[in-house]
Amino acid sequence: NKQVLLKNYVDGFPKESDMEVSCDATISLELPKNESGVLLTKNLYLSCDPMMRNRMSESYLGAYMDSFALGSPLVGVGVSKVVDSTHPDFKKGDYVTGFVNWEEYSVVPNPQVTKIQHTDVPLSYYTGILGMAGMTAYVGFYEFCSAKKGEYFFVSAASGAIGQLVGQFAKRAGCYVVGSAGSKEKVDLLKNKFGFDEAFNYKEEQDLNATLKRYFPDGIDVYFDNVGGKMLDAVLPNMRVHGRIASCGMISQYNRLQKPEAVYNLSLVIFKRIKILGFTFYDFLHLYPKFYDLILPLIREGKIEYLEDIAEGLEKGPAAFVGLFSGRNVGKQVVAVARD
Ligand code: NDP
Repeated sequence: NKQVLLKNYVDGFPKESDMEVSCDATISLELPKNESGVLLTKNLYLSCDPMMRNRMSESYLGAYMDSFALGSPLVGVGVSKVVDSTHPDFKKGDYVTGFVNWEEYSVVPNPQVTKIQHTDVPLSYYTGILGMAGMTAYVGFYEFCSAKKGEYFFVSAASGAIGQLVGQFAKRAGCYVVGSAGSKEKVDLLKNKFGFDEAFNYKEEQDLNATLKRYFPDGIDVYFDNVGGKMLDAVLPNMRVHGRIASCGMISQYNRLQKPEAVYNLSLVIFKRIKILGFTFYDFLHLYPKFYDLILPLIREGKIEYLEDIAEGLEKGPAAFVGLFSGRNVGKQVVAVARD
């Protein structure tokens, strides 16, 4: 049973060598029949999420989940197939999603997974568009942006798991949508695949404030922030009075917790009467049914684009995860442990 273990706590940028792919020979592929409520699962798809970086630190700012234990598998959202079950609610052959160890097979004594009901869409989607990324995009956009037709909308990390969906939600709402991303390939995707009105490569811009003025001569009504740091600082002078900022993530700061970047323009929040609203998707899990009512038909009717970047094999997991922090992923980063 191959596993990806955390070898040491991470300080700064995560490296592949902070993790180790090893083999645990102790797992039995049969469950003891006298123990009820246990699942044996074969893990199919694992989600690479920036927030897992926090759990690789011994402690982190605003800790909302325990740090990973040294020498134990990483844990993240995943999709698995039930191979054996002594749990009344799950049977062999069911597909489930929830928090999963980064390993080929898991014995799950107290399953914190839910059964996948809709299997006519790709199962890997439950790591992204039908999982945490989708819900975060949905909650952030529909509960926090209050975006109206004709408004000027900006989203950073726009080609990533969340950004690509947020941009499309904003287009559907009738906004003028601009996205930033870290390569020409991603900028092309934003304009030609995801239907953004404009996009730019922030890595090629010397003065982000001036760049944003160029794309938003009349200012930004709504900023969906996935990155924080310098981009947030440049957005503030470009916000319109009574603008909204949905604060979803600050990936530019996750590897610099000892030395966070200053946001010099923060006082503009007052003068421009800006609402900055931080949120986490897990406060809104009750909205899953409403979200699925919206997103499943869009997927089935081909009315929403969704791009995944799938690394084949558990041994590719560490590289795939680390790649999130240099923008190596093009679309939602998934690790396919097995296809079925
Ligand atoms: P992505 O799929 O967008 O992957 C991360 C991307 O971030 C990279 O591809 C890279 O794209 C960009 N990036 C990496 N480092 C930097 C940097 N220093 N400055 C600017 N951009 C950078 O990730 P997700 O869509 O899964 O997550 C987006 C954000 O949402 C993250 O901040 C994450 O923590 C947050 N999040 C929040 C949740 C909530 O409930 N509030 C839930 C889940 C995620 P590029 O090439 O464009 O630089």
